[in-house]
Amino acid sequence: MSPVAPEVGMVVIQPTGFCNIDCAYCYLPNRNDKHVMAQATVKRLFSELFSSGWASPRITVVWHAGEPLVVPPSFYREAFATIEALRPKSVEVAHSFQTNGMLINAEWCKLFLDWKVGVGVSIDGPRELHDANRRMRNGSGTFDRTLAGIRTLRREGVPFHVISVLGRKSLDMADELLDFYTEEGIDHVCFNVEESEGSHISELMEEADRQVRYAAFLRRFWHRARENGRIQFVREIDLAIQRIFRPEEVATRNIQTEPLAMLNVDSRGNVSSFSPELLGLRNVDYGDYLFGNIDRDSLAKIHDNCVRSALMRDIQAGVDACAATCDYFSVCGGGAPVNKLSENGSFASTDTGYCALTQKVPTDLILEAYDQLERGTVEPSPTMMATALTGPLPVSRTP
Ligand code: SF4
Repeated sequence: MSPVAPEVGMVVIQPTGFCNIDCAYCYLPNRNDKHVMAQATVKRLFSELFSSGWASPRITVVWHAGEPLVVPPSFYREAFATIEALRPKSVEVAHSFQTNGMLINAEWCKLFLDWKVGVGVSIDGPRELHDANRRMRNGSGTFDRTLAGIRTLRREGVPFHVISVLGRKSLDMADELLDFYTEEGIDHVCFNVEESEGSHISELMEEADRQVRYAAFLRRFWHRARENGRIQFVREIDLAIQRIFRPEEVATRNIQTEPLAMLNVDSRGNVSSFSPELLGLRNVDYGDYLFGNIDRDSLAKIHDNCVRSALMRDIQAGVDACAATCDYFSVCGGGAPVNKLSENGSFASTDTGYCALTQKVPTDLILEAYDQLERGTVEPSPTMMATALTGPLPVSRTP
């Protein structure tokens, strides 16, 4: 039987592995590698993708990891034009950058505006939190240059969001983070918890009370953000609301567990899938997690290698175990494979500290707020009103 055709929803491209800084929690082993992707590789990748018919009607292309802005704007202008020329009318392409913000200037802003690029800036909050981990190779902090980049985006009218990595200390500083964002006019916020990935061991994930502390942090931040009214979007809450209060017949899609739903490509054309963090890592059981090279192999061959791999088999076993045992499966869809491997030593596993913080805590907070709303003990916000009215909950409660 031939395998089910994939639906590629996201293409994650490393235009270079190089990063101009050296964060304490970075898992990337190749962040000194200055190789830059050839334009011919961009052309070949999107020729294969669009001719395969496997692209979703709307795909996101994420230029990510190392630092995408160490490659000049001219690289992206050429690459975007190539992709646009190849793009079928039935497929929308949205470009997105995740950057440390230090190199942002007016030229970059023009590119972002010209191509409607989604921009995410990594800043961990006020200076004391940010500079604790996000440093240059000589150990100096990067806060001033990152903040200068954010102010340039605001001055040039470029929409953006920030991603802040939360470590042990940040969890006691919800108010300080909120005050920082509002003072800097930052109104779209995403939190990443510091994870154990690759060779990096997260101190947060070693803490026994991390789930209770993270819940207290997120509850405080969310409630204060609603009072303050200047934060428009908190990813951990707003995306979880969409997943929880969706129509019952709509299944949650977890693109980290579907073969080639995430197409992850490094600067030399090597292709991986599932969690993008796997690209560049190695493991005794799975080797380099690669399924081929887009300069040499067809996408059909790469897909075939993927679905026949031990990696696919074990990730699916983990998803099946999640489906059989976890009350949160309908909102989570089986978690992040890289975290299962890093924390449990196996893809064929279920609970992780990461899923407790990123799936269970937000779900419980939202259901807690829904209960309060139903009992009339809390004033509804516009978002809660809209989402609370859309139908029955597709997730069961844990006691
Ligand atoms: S929350 Fe954790 S255990 Fe539950 S489905 Fe997600 S990954 Fe699996």
